[in-house]
Amino acid sequence: MQIFHSATIVVERDPEGALALILDVPNRSVNVLNRQVMADLNAALDSVADSKAPLLVLRSGKKSGFIAGADLQEFLGIQDAASAEAVSASGQQLFAKLAAVPMPTLAAISGACLGGGLELALACDYRLVFDKPGTQLGLPEVELGLLPAWGGTQRLPRLIGLERALRMILDRKRLNAVEAFRWGLADALAATENELREQFARLAARAVGEGKRRPPHLPLFRGGWEGPLRTWRQCILESNPLGRRVLFKATERLLRRRVPDDMPAPFEALEAIRTGLQDGMAAGLAYERSAAGRLAVSTACRNLIGLFFQTQKSDKLPEELRGTVPTPVRRIGVVGAGTMGAGIAQLAAFKGCKVVVQDVSQAALDAGLERIEGLFRKAVERRLLTEPESVERLAAIQGTLQWDGFDNVDVVVEAALENLDAKKAIFRELEARTRPETVLATNTSSLPVERLQEGLKHPERVAGMHFFNPVHKMPLVEVARTSASSAQTLATLMQWAIHLGKTPVLVRDSPGFAVNRVLTPYLNEAVLLVAEGLTIEQVDRVMKRFGMPMGPLELLDQVGLDIAAHVAQSMQPMLTGRFEPNTAFEKMRSAGLLGQKSGRGFYLHDGKKPKVNVQAQELLRSEKSNPFSQTLPTTARVTEGRERMVLLMVNEAALGLSERLTASAEALNLALVLGAGWAPHRGGPLRYADDRGLADIVQSLSALAARYGRRFEPCAELKRRAQANESFTQPLHALI
Ligand code: NAD
Repeated sequence: MQIFHSATIVVERDPEGALALILDVPNRSVNVLNRQVMADLNAALDSVADSKAPLLVLRSGKKSGFIAGADLQEFLGIQDAASAEAVSASGQQLFAKLAAVPMPTLAAISGACLGGGLELALACDYRLVFDKPGTQLGLPEVELGLLPAWGGTQRLPRLIGLERALRMILDRKRLNAVEAFRWGLADALAATENELREQFARLAARAVGEGKRRPPHLPLFRGGWEGPLRTWRQCILESNPLGRRVLFKATERLLRRRVPDDMPAPFEALEAIRTGLQDGMAAGLAYERSAAGRLAVSTACRNLIGLFFQTQKSDKLPEELRGTVPTPVRRIGVVGAGTMGAGIAQLAAFKGCKVVVQDVSQAALDAGLERIEGLFRKAVERRLLTEPESVERLAAIQGTLQWDGFDNVDVVVEAALENLDAKKAIFRELEARTRPETVLATNTSSLPVERLQEGLKHPERVAGMHFFNPVHKMPLVEVARTSASSAQTLATLMQWAIHLGKTPVLVRDSPGFAVNRVLTPYLNEAVLLVAEGLTIEQVDRVMKRFGMPMGPLELLDQVGLDIAAHVAQSMQPMLTGRFEPNTAFEKMRSAGLLGQKSGRGFYLHDGKKPKVNVQAQELLRSEKSNPFSQTLPTTARVTEGRERMVLLMVNEAALGLSERLTASAEALNLALVLGAGWAPHRGGPLRYADDRGLADIVQSLSALAARYGRRFEPCAELKRRAQANESFTQPLHALI
């Protein structure tokens, strides 16, 4: 029997009298918490208050999951700190009301339970989790430059312990159902539908028997610990104020080392937790509210949320391709079973495609198929699919030394060796061996796609589809168009990339596409800085403080100096006249310093932790010295070094945009963040330029050009926009 009904929530009473509160937000594939849901929940809680029911169960009416989090679209309406504080306050009040309903409450969680969704579940007395792929419990707010501000920083440590809560809130660790049960976040776990019914009945009976749990907002008695202590480590560290102080101090030190400059969210979250545990829940909640206000208007948060919406937008075909119906991709061919080919084949099969992989050597094919098997094994370990599913999908991949099966595929991705003549021969072969409507894509990093179209009868079938390494992890795919690529070809590749769970960005065919184009001057400058006397560590550290996930020299070691030399060479047409040829990559390559693959590069990769390779420093140092930089004290040289590396990327991105490398500054920013890890909280190079002010960027580049030469000359696009006071990117609210 229904006792409450609203647009998003119904409350039903079962024959035993227990109530089920079911959330189902209409017209959304997942449940999110927005103003409407919060108002409906408030009214629903009023309706159950006097019901005398023995139990209130909260669950989702959607198969897709429990609650994916707060509705970020509403966040766009928040213009000042006071409004953000008010949103935090009303959520806190609502969840306190949920915690205080007279009957015990039980959250039945299946699928995503994230952010505000987990905060809601934390306000319940009991939690049951269903172990299926896709069940995730987490508080990812810090990822968006925010903190959990509906009581999450207070209730989570009280429930699962301080250290584990810090990992979830600060390290953004998401738990699957089994981990949630092990960590005490859930009281019961079910692996099958049958078990779910059983476990639910058992937990419901227990909840009715034991009644409400001690409200977690009881004042914490000083010096003691009100949460459960499950491990020896927790007993030693968390049961006393001294141990907790040690934990907080160690965490703070870690954050200072790891969190980049201008990213306040993790520190605010830590302080909210500390305040709550030292001074009680009311003080902790007050800190949560005020921090939510400060963070919501911070540059880091606005940029991270901007990227979130830009990523969401990329889940649909871009405007210019909307009229084209993409071909559904069910069967694909992959040419080359190396690092990239194996990765692409595995991902495609994982997502349900039938795959045929072709290589010229049996040994390479065997190694590739082995790599694919390994990737599936890891996916099973990570519970992304079950063992039988993995066996079934692996069986959907066939290897061939001939072209068996290529006459029946929708798309081919060529990922053979990076050699123009070899690739041209492959495309001629593909044109002859595939159906006329098969789309032919190349994964080349540096060769012009239009050269591969030469001599083909139907060049419109060909485009670039540039995956990043490792394929299963890296979220970006650059889809590169030439003037001959048809809309059908591009739409098919873009839509397929979306189906694969990637974010595609449409780029113009041009050396290095978007990501490598902007990275090349940066990596070039990093090497020059070493040549001028900065240490390898100084160069890498300053860029990590800026927000890059790894330093430029670490990145070069990972990519391989041979590949970097090759890419730099193919980028030369873009750089001639602006950049002097840099022989450093070639020197490193000739000395056998190839990076990780040879065990030595800028670092020595022979132990667990790479150590600086002094040989590389010396090899390059003799290369070049700049009289101006030598006169500066070290800290100023390091700061200026960062400025040189960052502004070259800004300049290259601005120049690229003026050449229509991507359709918008937002797309270029997104490509850099997803493809190169460009400091996400700074929103990509063109957003960074806008935040800093284009006049300042132009002036700083001009000053660097006077000292270091024409590679720093601000490009015409930057100067024009600075003069016209015209930013590159749109304000946040214009993104949706
Ligand atoms: P790889 O050397 O690991 O693999 C290349 C594979 O192609 C080998 O198995 C080789 O036997 C096979 N091969 C060579 N000639 C062939 C031919 N004529 N027909 C069929 N197979 C042939 O190389 P990789 O790193 O996988 O790179 C493949 C492509 O992807 C290159 O174009 C590269 O530029 C591009 N790419 C590489 C990365 C990366 O980080 N490795 C990233 C993006 C793009």
